[in-house]
Amino acid sequence: MSVPVQSIIDTRRHQMFPVLEPAEIERVRRFGKVRSYGVGAALAKVGEVGLGLTIILAGKVDITQHDQSGRRTPIVSYGVGAFMGELAQLAGRPALVDAHAQEPVEALIIPPDQLRALLIAEAELGERIMRALILRRVGLIETGAGGPVIVGRAENGDVLRLQGFLRRNGHPHQRLDPETDPEAKALIERFHVDPGQLPIVLCPDGQLLRNPSESELARCIRLVGPIDPKHVYDVAVVGAGPAGLAAAVYAGSEGLSVLVLDCRAFGGQAGASARIENYLGFPTGISGMALMARAYNQAQKFGVEMAIPDEVIGLDAAGHPGPSRFILTLSNNERVTARSIVIASGARYRRLAVENLETFEGASVHYWASPLEAKLCAGQEVALVGAGNSAGQAAVYLASQVAKVWLLVRGGDLASSMSRYLVDRIASLANVEVLTQTSVTGLEGRDGMLVAIRWRRGASGEEVRRPIQHLFLFIGAEPNTEWLSGSGVALDAKGFVLTGADTDENRQPLETSRRGVFAIGDVRSRSVKRVAAAVGEGAQVVATLHTVLAASDREPVRNREIVQEGRNR
Ligand SMILES: Cc1cc2nc3c(=O)[nH]c(=O)nc-3n(C[C@H](O)[C@H](O)[C@H](O)COP(=O)(O)OP(=O)(O)OC[C@H]3O[C@@H](n4cnc5c(N)ncnc54)[C@H](O)[C@@H]3O)c2cc1C
Repeated sequence: MSVPVQSIIDTRRHQMFPVLEPAEIERVRRFGKVRSYGVGAALAKVGEVGLGLTIILAGKVDITQHDQSGRRTPIVSYGVGAFMGELAQLAGRPALVDAHAQEPVEALIIPPDQLRALLIAEAELGERIMRALILRRVGLIETGAGGPVIVGRAENGDVLRLQGFLRRNGHPHQRLDPETDPEAKALIERFHVDPGQLPIVLCPDGQLLRNPSESELARCIRLVGPIDPKHVYDVAVVGAGPAGLAAAVYAGSEGLSVLVLDCRAFGGQAGASARIENYLGFPTGISGMALMARAYNQAQKFGVEMAIPDEVIGLDAAGHPGPSRFILTLSNNERVTARSIVIASGARYRRLAVENLETFEGASVHYWASPLEAKLCAGQEVALVGAGNSAGQAAVYLASQVAKVWLLVRGGDLASSMSRYLVDRIASLANVEVLTQTSVTGLEGRDGMLVAIRWRRGASGEEVRRPIQHLFLFIGAEPNTEWLSGSGVALDAKGFVLTGADTDENRQPLETSRRGVFAIGDVRSRSVKRVAAAVGEGAQVVATLHTVLAASDREPVRNREIVQEGRNR
């Protein structure tokens, strides 16, 4: 296991491991119960759901991590006033470290629901605890401690898929090379794994998975658990992008019981953005992943339950009279019942139907033209495919940064799909060459980088090959609305969800053609496709939700009642 030279444990130690004052401990006693442990007793075990945040009142506790051969590495020792726990404690998920009493220990145990109540009730202390929980998770991600071990070669596509999934979900993990790592070789021998079955994944509870799907892996490490089909949520949010997470934070903070489902990871498209420069309040920019991880933790602080990865494949009325119950069907046949639904399933940028496209996405094929991409191709020739306003804006911007923009348009002209001012501006730019009736026919490159693009003008035109390393695609976005087929939710001609007056003059803003079902963010017809717009709609929809819930058969279920019902995902 490799620990970075300058670990977060070195740089942020005082914030990661704060010690509470006696007066502070007295204040938080009401949130927990005191328990005693004898010398050597386990207070937490990797892979097992712990009791909660643990404040040491007397004695000493050693926190360790262990590798596949059982070797223990100390992380930290906690004395009186210190507290044990990391982000897993917020949601009642399995522990990522082992903890053993070195001396007789007396500890105040604060279960997840009470921890969330503490974080909200004790603003300053809550901030210190929350910061420590987040930093500890960052420290565990640095070392991979407590997470699954992936055995496979770094460049293997399935290894990249599984690592990408765990990274996007903020979960620690390690990768061992099957050819060079003795522990990997030992695992392969112990489980009689053929090289063709790699990668394998060893989960913290000892289960071995052979090239699992993301869903299998998530269930093995208990990132996601079964959903109680009888439980009725105030609101189920489909999609954990900026829109869905914003709705969750506002609904959770107002005491509604909320479940957020996402088929991949939290963050949505925004999570894929290397740097968001135009989101209010971040003058130096922020990576999409960092912004979304904050929102994800914030939602959990307000008691929002997360079901990630869980794919929604259908929306049905439950057969109750009135619009007050909805049932979502998941791809694993589970069901979610909720009194209102927020559709925040976003959109995915349309891809070109050309071989190898995926190989070059990330490094050479771009769906966005921000200063970051412009920097990558400064002084070079680039190709841009598209004929709408977003393509026009991107062409104008890129022209100021690059040597030449080849604007490839499938149709006969720009004017039929682009605003006049953009058509005129493009015409005045000497370094933009518009090629109409042109289609990309091939991509050439190596190691994920393009070296040349081929295109053809007209059906019978000659194929042209140009040495271009960056291709920009602005050919529209496809809404993630297949799962709404047969649901009675009206869509526009392009498949985006209609809301408000677009569907019926009596509808509330953001409400769809079905009462009690709302749509926000990129999935909504005529929405502004931006992070800030998605977040704004997430906040706005909660006000309308209240109206619908108040009109339905009873008062909203409060978070506290949910916890008393003993649900623990
Ligand atoms: C590379 C890139 C860079 C960008 N940069 C910027 C930027 O700098 N500034 C800016 O303002 N905007 C930017 N955008 C646009 C911005 O990211 C989007 O407008 C925003 O993410 C939309 O948020 P959303 O929550 O509506 O949808 P999304 O972000 O698309 O999230 C939707 C979520 O729903 C989930 N989902 C879909 N279907 C289902 C289903 N059936 N079941 C369960 N879950 C489902 C998806 O997995 C996804 O996580 C960028 C987009 C991209 C792709």
